[in-house]
Amino acid sequence: MKNYLISILSVLCIVYSCDTNESNEINIYSQRHYEVDKKQYENFEQKTGIKVNVIKANADELLERLKNEGANSPADLFVTVDAGKLQKGAEMGLFQKINSDEINNNVSKELIDKNGYWIPITYRARILVYSNDRVMASELSTYEDLADEKWKGRILVRSSSNAYNQALMSSLYANLGQETVEKWSSGIVNNFARDPKGNDRDQVKAIAAGQGDIAIVNSYYIGLLLSSEKQQEVDAGNSVSVFFPNQGENERGSHINISGFAMTKNAPNKQNSIKLLEYLTSVEAQETYVNNSYEYPANPLVMPSEIVQSWGEFKIDELDLNKLGTYRNEAIKVFDKTGWK
Ligand code: FE
Repeated sequence: MKNYLISILSVLCIVYSCDTNESNEINIYSQRHYEVDKKQYENFEQKTGIKVNVIKANADELLERLKNEGANSPADLFVTVDAGKLQKGAEMGLFQKINSDEINNNVSKELIDKNGYWIPITYRARILVYSNDRVMASELSTYEDLADEKWKGRILVRSSSNAYNQALMSSLYANLGQETVEKWSSGIVNNFARDPKGNDRDQVKAIAAGQGDIAIVNSYYIGLLLSSEKQQEVDAGNSVSVFFPNQGENERGSHINISGFAMTKNAPNKQNSIKLLEYLTSVEAQETYVNNSYEYPANPLVMPSEIVQSWGEFKIDELDLNKLGTYRNEAIKVFDKTGWK
C-alpha cells in the first residue's frame, strides 16, 4: 500500500512538474539600475515565499559571466534594458525559450520577441526634450532633422559608449542604411553643445543651465526628474518639454526599446522563474513599474503614470527590436568614424 501511494505521488509530481531539485529561490543577473526593482522582488517574496537574489553588473559583463559559468551557472534569469543585449545572449546560446500562456497573454503582442527568447516587462522611448525658453515644438520634427545646421551648438546627448545611444543608432542604421546614418552622426557631432558627458538626466540639467537647447534622452528620466525629492531636479524637469520625433503621417514613429527578461539555458529554478515573470507582467506589478520608474507598461491593460500620460500618445517605430542587436557593431563603427565620443 505504501509503495502504491509513493508511485501515485511521483506520477502526480511528474504531471504537475514539482521539481524536487528546485530550491526556494531565484537568482537574477540584472543590468537594471532602478529602485522599483527592489520593491517588485520584495512584493513577490512576500506573496510566494520565494527569495529573489540579484547580482548587478553591466549587460556585457553578465553575458560573459553566463558564458564562462556554462551549465554550472546559478543564474535563472537575465534582465536588461536593451533588446539588443537579449538578442546577443540568445545568439550566444545562453537562453532557453519561455512557454507560458499567462505571460504571453499579459504582454502586448507588438512587444513580443519574434524568436521567443525574451519577455518584455516595460518599454521606453528615446525622445527629445527641448528648452521651454529657447525652442518651439513647431521647430522640431525627426531624429534626422537634428543633424541640420540650424541646431549648431545646441544639442546635448551622452557618450556613444552608452547602450541607449547604441540602440538608437542601430535603429537608425536598420531604417536608413549606412551612408545616411554616417552623415547624420557627423551632423549631430557638428551640432553638439559640448563634448558628450554625464547621463540622460545631466543633459536635461544642462538645458536648465543654458548649456544647450535640445537633449536626446530616455522618456522615464523626465518622470524621475519631475517626481524627484531634489528641487533642482524638479526645476530641470520643468525647464523642458517632451517631443516624440518622427510622428508625421509618413514617418516611422519614435525609437523604443524594451526592458526584458530571458531565462538561462540551465536555469536551476525554472518554475519559480516563470512564476516571477507571470507576476512581473501582471496588472499589479505593472502598475508598480509605471508609477515608480515612469517606464511604459508591457501589459496593455495598465496605463502609464499620470506624468507620462500628460505627454500624450505616440507612434512607435515598429522595427523588430532584435535588429538593435544585429546592427550593434555597425552602429559603434559609425560613432567611431564620425567622432561621437
Ligand atoms: Fe536607464
